[in-house]
Amino acid sequence: MKTMSCKDLGGPCDLQFTGKDANEIIKAQDAHLKAMSAAGDASHEGAAKEMKGSLVVHSDGLGKGATFTLTLPVAVKEDVKLAAPLAS
Ligand SMILES: [Zn+2]
Repeated sequence: MKTMSCKDLGGPCDLQFTGKDANEIIKAQDAHLKAMSAAGDASHEGAAKEMKGSLVVHSDGLGKGATFTLTLPVAVKEDVKLAAPLAS
């Protein structure tokens, strides 16, 4: 079992979530953010908008390990330039 708080996941409060894996905890956090937003809590509403990423877990079977793929949205500024020109 794993435990993480709302704050650990980018939220504003200390509510704890317990689940057998990260997916369960993230689902619990997502439900919590939605419930708090629906109740008019602006701080949770902001956190909900930021949590647009996803976590996918894949395993080939027992004893073969697992691959966690965490995808987070990243805004790329169009004016970002390479710090140094590539060698040619
Ligand atoms: Zn919270």
